[in-house]
Amino acid sequence: MKFSRIRSVSPGVILRLGRPGLAVLLAVLLVLGLVAGLRLVVALGAAGADGDGSVGDDGGSHQELELEQKLRAELLARFQGRVPRQWGERVTGVVTRIDTTEKVVALTFDACGGSTPASPSNGYDRDLIDFLNREQIPATLFISSRWIDANPELFQELARNPLFTIENHGYLHRPLSVTGRSVYGVKGTASINEVIDEILLNQRRIEQLTGRAPRYFRSGTAYYDEVAVEIVEALGLKAIGFDILGDAGATFNKEQVKRALLGVRPGSIVLCHMNHPESDTAEGLMEAVPILKRMGFRFVRLRDYHDRLSAIGAETAARR
Ligand SMILES: [Zn+2]
Repeated sequence: MKFSRIRSVSPGVILRLGRPGLAVLLAVLLVLGLVAGLRLVVALGAAGADGDGSVGDDGGSHQELELEQKLRAELLARFQGRVPRQWGERVTGVVTRIDTTEKVVALTFDACGGSTPASPSNGYDRDLIDFLNREQIPATLFISSRWIDANPELFQELARNPLFTIENHGYLHRPLSVTGRSVYGVKGTASINEVIDEILLNQRRIEQLTGRAPRYFRSGTAYYDEVAVEIVEALGLKAIGFDILGDAGATFNKEQVKRALLGVRPGSIVLCHMNHPESDTAEGLMEAVPILKRMGFRFVRLRDYHDRLSAIGAETAARR
């Protein structure tokens, strides 16, 4: 807006216009003034937004990256030099059950994912999910980026289903170690940075795809050292284990799955798999669920009992 154009109207022009003309001129000036004011406000708003870098895709991701680098540096400083003493499924800080006397059970299903698209770990147990849908059984699904890569449409379908919450099962499905320990021949993460990557890269992936950030993390194989568990917590997540091994990596037969599930107590967290359609997991579950219902149990998601997820304490873990 050029104010010089308004100032250039000479008194002679106004005199020649007469009274109606003057009114029109004043109205035009008023409109021009309003427009100028409005443009100034918009310009100031944009300048403000540019200034703090909080608006626009580039600004947002850049700021996010800076924050992440800062957080990473803080975690490195905090955990560097720590030597883990525990390694397993039940180390200090891992949540293995809900602290309650109510007859509730949290069914959790892992979708592990394999390193190649054709890997059997990238499967989808449709019978299992259909059963949960049919019976309206809520469940918590731990999914890795590998599985998401192999099943993008299925992932979105599951994420849209209000029965389920999608949680973090790692970027490359690795056991969570700060020193590179392995289990079942699967090599664990080997440094603080790799632990952070394993958690955060899948966290960001799920959040971008679903608009919701996971609150729970279960490592590939459910193995951790206790320093890695503290890093999970420092990143704002709870490390989740289980107290009922429901299908032993989808290797149990129907009877074994059923027997395992019938071993639940109030607050149990059951670990099963949804990525092995060839397994007997769904068949065992279909037999056990009606019995558990008759016993008075109902099924909940971890987030329904967020404040009552009880981690294994230092004393308990030391005794094992
Ligand atoms: Zn897994």
